[in-house]
Amino acid sequence: MQKKDLKNLTIEELETLFLGAGKERFRAKQIFKWMYQKGVEDFSLMSNISRGFQHELSETAYISTLHPEAVEVSQDGTRKYLFKLDDGERVESVLIPDEGRNTLCISSQVGCAMGCAFCLTGTFRLTRNLTTAEIVNQVCAVRREADIRNIVLMGMGEPLANLHNVIRALKIIIDPDGLQFSNRRVTVSTSGLVPEMEQLGKAVTVNLAVSLNATTDEMRDRLMPINRRYPLSELMAACRRFPLPSRRMITFEYVLIRDMNDSLEDAKRLVRLISSVPAKVNLIAFNEHEGCSFKAPTQEAIDRMHRFLLDKHITVITRSSRGADISAACGQLKGKLDKKQVEAKEEVENEPHF
Ligand code: SF4
Repeated sequence: MQKKDLKNLTIEELETLFLGAGKERFRAKQIFKWMYQKGVEDFSLMSNISRGFQHELSETAYISTLHPEAVEVSQDGTRKYLFKLDDGERVESVLIPDEGRNTLCISSQVGCAMGCAFCLTGTFRLTRNLTTAEIVNQVCAVRREADIRNIVLMGMGEPLANLHNVIRALKIIIDPDGLQFSNRRVTVSTSGLVPEMEQLGKAVTVNLAVSLNATTDEMRDRLMPINRRYPLSELMAACRRFPLPSRRMITFEYVLIRDMNDSLEDAKRLVRLISSVPAKVNLIAFNEHEGCSFKAPTQEAIDRMHRFLLDKHITVITRSSRGADISAACGQLKGKLDKKQVEAKEEVENEPHF
């Protein structure tokens, strides 16, 4: 029988499992606390569980963990963690410090199928979805060495294309017996999968960020192929329907790319587009990278867009390119390490055989 990784289960699922095995419901709470609050992976260390039950658990289940394979630290304090998964695939998480309030950006898939034109991860294509355990273990691993205040699912992958595992992971992250994050501090970012936005809103209360990046369907079709399936009108209608707790806003991410989406006209259209939604805007200057011909915006274009939004009383943050010296754009660390491995492999393969 294959052993079950308990980190793939929400507390309700663990309760059901234990009740089905004739155990008490409260055992799930105990195990959750050991796993997520004390970071224990060994059943024999769970002192409030009887020896017999510890043995039963170790015969049928295990508790997975992740350890970073590499950590790159930027001059501004941004830390990139690269994790090697059991099947040899790799994902990354990024810890972004901000005056003591660290934000951890985690991945939900290996690669991504969405193919956004400005994104390096998109060029890796989708390899597979992460399991629930692989998503929560990124948080557990980084929390062993740093305080995390906010969590954003904005790393590799489209979280809503891995909806079931992402919902489970979110439930564990905000569970008072689990990782204990306030749902105000957890944000899921999507490129705009409309039906899944609705399912997410029904399943769990978290913040939503929408990667918008364009103000016309013509430009968004070019930058984000998902727009051909769910154009701006449908996306904005889904945003209006999203069940936001009172006084919360949807964050619209907007990557500024020189001469593509950074004009004053874009700024005006952006204001009109988001006017019917409680919204704030994150402006991000495009980070130039190998294999992509797009250019970073000028400082003037960034300032113009920022000022225009502010003048229209929209909350706007221009995110500086954090960790520019450690490959900050999404997916670049994985790209770099994978490239090194391919080169090393080629060197070995190209060695002359005598
Ligand atoms: S921006 Fe996000 S959704 Fe688009 S390709 Fe990159 S990881 Fe995927």
